[in-house]
Amino acid sequence: MSDSRARPQVPAPSHPWRLAYEGFDPAEEGIREVLCAVGNGYLVSRAAAPESRADGIHYPGTYLAGCYDRAVSVVDGRTVENEDLINCPNWLPFTFRPEEGTWFTGPAATEQLELDLRRGVLTRHALVVDDQGRRTRLTQRRIASQAQPHLLALETELVPENWSGRLEIRSALDGNVSNTGVARYRGLTGRHLVPDGQGADADGTLWLQVAAAGSPLRIALAARTLAHRGGAPLATIRTDEVREGLAAQVFVLAAEQGSPVTVEKTVAVFTSRDPAIGAPLRAARTLVEQAPDFARLVRDHALRWTELWSRCRIDADFDGIGTVRLHLFHLLQTYSEHSVDLDVGIPARGLHGEAYRGHVFWDELFVLQLLNLRFPELARAVLRYRHRRLDAARQAARAVGLSGAMYPWQSASDGREESQQLHRNPLSGRWLPDHSHLQHHVGSAVAYNVWQHYQATGDVDFLATTGAEMVLEVARFWSSAAVYDPRRGRYSIRGVVGPDEYHDAYPWSDRPGLDDNAYTNVLASWVLARALDTIDVLPGYRRDELLERLALDRGELDRWQEVSRRLHVPFHDGVLSQFDGYERLAELDWSAYRRRYPDLRRLDRILEAEGDTANRYKASKQADVLMLFYLFSAREVRDLLRRLGHRAGPELLRRTTGYYLRRTVHGSTLSAVVHAWVLTRSDRRASWRFFRDALAGDLADVQGGTTAEGIHLGAMAGTVDLLQRCYTGLEIRRDTLWLAPRLPSAIGRVELDLRYRGHWGVTLCVDRRTATVSLRESPQAPIRVGFRGSPTTVRPGESQRFSL
Ligand code: BGC
Repeated sequence: MSDSRARPQVPAPSHPWRLAYEGFDPAEEGIREVLCAVGNGYLVSRAAAPESRADGIHYPGTYLAGCYDRAVSVVDGRTVENEDLINCPNWLPFTFRPEEGTWFTGPAATEQLELDLRRGVLTRHALVVDDQGRRTRLTQRRIASQAQPHLLALETELVPENWSGRLEIRSALDGNVSNTGVARYRGLTGRHLVPDGQGADADGTLWLQVAAAGSPLRIALAARTLAHRGGAPLATIRTDEVREGLAAQVFVLAAEQGSPVTVEKTVAVFTSRDPAIGAPLRAARTLVEQAPDFARLVRDHALRWTELWSRCRIDADFDGIGTVRLHLFHLLQTYSEHSVDLDVGIPARGLHGEAYRGHVFWDELFVLQLLNLRFPELARAVLRYRHRRLDAARQAARAVGLSGAMYPWQSASDGREESQQLHRNPLSGRWLPDHSHLQHHVGSAVAYNVWQHYQATGDVDFLATTGAEMVLEVARFWSSAAVYDPRRGRYSIRGVVGPDEYHDAYPWSDRPGLDDNAYTNVLASWVLARALDTIDVLPGYRRDELLERLALDRGELDRWQEVSRRLHVPFHDGVLSQFDGYERLAELDWSAYRRRYPDLRRLDRILEAEGDTANRYKASKQADVLMLFYLFSAREVRDLLRRLGHRAGPELLRRTTGYYLRRTVHGSTLSAVVHAWVLTRSDRRASWRFFRDALAGDLADVQGGTTAEGIHLGAMAGTVDLLQRCYTGLEIRRDTLWLAPRLPSAIGRVELDLRYRGHWGVTLCVDRRTATVSLRESPQAPIRVGFRGSPTTVRPGESQRFSL
């Protein structure tokens, strides 16, 4: 790269609806590809340059929701099996060359990239200068249609600036791709696709089909490439180039100096998992044949984005609102109405890269509360993904001698545990046993999400048909996992890992797992209590059915009561202990470590590379105990602890927060969200700092390299929810929408539209002095809204203003 090349700007939204980058920086390219990716909930395609290939700088990945493949690898002499979200055939390849020149493979002389969040269109402006000094202006626009999720489109406009002559254009579909996007997985099998036919039809349609190597999945693509000048079709001479796993076309046409040539590449994608089709290849061919031109595709697509934005309107008068919208944008590209029938969960890293292999973790805990009040039908689809895997969770519980449902820490296609058994520390090069599958708290997150969905929507039908069974089975799991300890007269849950992954065993024990993780136990108590409430809420007829079906008798329900009140919750030094025995761990010499390592986020790797282990220290990767204060209000935590026989005043919250804050390195992007949330109650300035950190997460790639491997969707959604629920103090309790605004000093006003209990037009506006809830005209019943005192009723067409 020559020094005269434009330097990239700081990647920040320079406009609330626009993310723009100037210049080309190989080191930043992966981040841009992720942040400018286009998608629609069916698929996401990274913003790789169409002329590029996977070369260590560029990574043209496209991922289809729910398309996984299983492969076996040998690591360190051991056979391991992984299920990966497949990097699908590359639909993008597109390049050109002036007469007798060389194909353009990048980089261009100048580059600008601009993502229009409002319309979901990615535009690239570039100047290409070839080795003979011929200058060609290139403008490319691309979309992944939100109107027709199986369609992707790339429009290229080429303007020869100082030459005329023959112009050659090459457009292709490339099935010879592998999963190589994450450097530390490269020792593992990454080849997931085998060619299954390709060709070029007489009418100019290119097509390609691939089969997954380890599953019956098939993916088919069909492409149409057409050239025109100002709308008038251009005469071209076409040559097809078809070989195994690749279908390409070269078009030759006459170009004139100053006269634009426009080429539209439209691609249809289907898989054998899709509903409402016969065969994927036939569906792809038919759709591409019927697809309208690019202008029309963009119009229909932009209209859908307008609808989406109006349904998740969020305004706040601060400079980070553009980033908040970027986060919402990527959420709606990962999960949308087009995901609902695909039987997919929410992958922790979006559909934007290969980190964590596209697996689903507990991160939906950070997403669903946001969706419940915006797109409840999407939240239900996520919960149904879990419900369909309830049998797998039951089987997992049985396999370890327990009952109920034990949801996997990492989930993908069939709901079995997909966590890796070994992970590699890049600092030491060693492969280490991975015990993260002991994070059984993921099941409580599923139950929590079910209950919150019910609170936000009042949807008894969903609870009765789908949600309740999961809550009851997770409660049953905790009850069966709880062991009575006669010494204490309390129940213990042993051998687990909490959200803080740095601690997966006692330093003095060979056995993996820890005992009585406070977060796990308090949440288990909550699940048991809510399971009993769930039984009460169900229509009698359904209640009897479920009790009978699950063989739940009075004795077992009595035990749930008992366990929920007598689980052990450890304390030390006047704070909640992360787990039993935590006080016996050593203090880390923080100042020495801070001096030696500017970034302690991966303290676990640092310590392991030094021959030590994070298990020995009072040092956490992320919020663990404090997750309780994230999920529950101070009053709810107090009630929960009281149920467990502990007195807990505001002092406990304050002390516990300070204690762990001093010992947490925020090695997960989720940690900043949780701390921003929890600190609103005690230290608003610190809360604001964490909020800003969470906003910067992917934009500034704060973890130094992980954004290029996929977005951090939980943290992205968490920042939106901080505005939606935390800073407005919005809480749904006992059929009432409560407000307790705590706006940070940098935000004067937040205004948003919600869907609540069947109402589509609930507008909430909070400023420094007032909080107003307005209800649009609707045939629905009035709602109850509360601020401090007793709740008031707001009828459709009315507003209620509270003075703060
Ligand atoms: C965090 C987990 C999270 C996972 C996926 C890990 O780094 O520790 O809490 O679920 O990333 O986002």
